[in-house]
Amino acid sequence: MKPAAFDYYKPETLDEALSLLDEFGYDAKVLAGGQSLIPMMNMRLARPPVLIDINGVQGMTGIEVGESEIVIGGLTRHYMVEHSPEIQNSCPMLAEGIKLIGHSQIRSRGTIGGSIVHADPTAELPVMLTALGGKVTVVSSSDERELTPEELFLTYMTTTIEPNEIVKSVHFPVIAERTGHSIEEFTLRSGDFAIIIAAASVTLDEEGLIESAALCIGGVDGIPVKLEDVTDELIGEAPSEEIFAEKCAQIVDLVDPEKDIHASAEYRKDLCVALSRRVLKKAADRAKQA
Ligand SMILES: Cc1cc2nc3c(=O)[nH]c(=O)nc-3n(C[C@H](O)[C@H](O)[C@H](O)COP(=O)(O)OP(=O)(O)OC[C@H]3O[C@@H](n4cnc5c(N)ncnc54)[C@H](O)[C@@H]3O)c2cc1C
Repeated sequence: MKPAAFDYYKPETLDEALSLLDEFGYDAKVLAGGQSLIPMMNMRLARPPVLIDINGVQGMTGIEVGESEIVIGGLTRHYMVEHSPEIQNSCPMLAEGIKLIGHSQIRSRGTIGGSIVHADPTAELPVMLTALGGKVTVVSSSDERELTPEELFLTYMTTTIEPNEIVKSVHFPVIAERTGHSIEEFTLRSGDFAIIIAAASVTLDEEGLIESAALCIGGVDGIPVKLEDVTDELIGEAPSEEIFAEKCAQIVDLVDPEKDIHASAEYRKDLCVALSRRVLKKAADRAKQA
């Protein structure tokens, strides 16, 4: 199908893009990689009267790795992160998770900001942002604010980003010492959105015991779910297959996924347990080698 008619603007600066958003308000949609918006427009699930194409806006693309923080411009394409040697060293989960996004054609156009704003709870970036405690900088013509994942994601494909705001950059912490990351997902076909996705980070203390851990699941709710009840119980434990199996068993009672044509709720719960055990174990193994 073809999209409904729309007016098209291609600003060259962020200020120009923001003043167009002020002018058109709810009638306007930002166009970045178009990998989610254009299919929705083609199927007429979205009919924005105005598209503001930000692809010509300077200064919104790039990756900067600092001492403790990685700053990725909102318009940075997935493939740029995927192939960045600095990202492999400074945030292994990001390097691993980005490769799971669709296919290379999608990663060559899709952007970091677009994935975050699209806010599919089974998409890799929202899950990684939540697991790692990243944040997002959004700007409007009059304000700039930083949002944590908890402040950002509201429900299925819905965020607290206002129609006059643009995601300028996305921030991830640089991996800490003695820390390992891991992300895994179950898909029906390679390149599909995940049925369930799990991401974990484990930090060991100098004795090799678990100092801190984070675990986040996508596909069980409208937003990525952080399982602090599980990770709190891991603190002070020696990492082992048995401890992860024991603590992850409770996940069946902590998540409440819905069924659909692809998987029953029970199957999704089993996937949560299996993937959580796996990512925690792999993250801990990597932390031992870090
Ligand atoms: C076949 C196929 C398979 C896919 N598989 C996956 C997958 O496995 N995992 C996955 O995560 N994604 C997948 N995607 C989606 C892909 O990752 C998209 O790139 C991403 O969801 C949206 O990014 P985009 O830059 O294309 O955004 P667009 O499609 O241009 O925009 C998406 C939304 O974000 C808004 N927006 C975009 N950029 C900004 C910004 N900087 N500030 C404010 N608002 C903004 C737009 O207005 C729109 O509402 C798939 C897509 C396709 C077509």
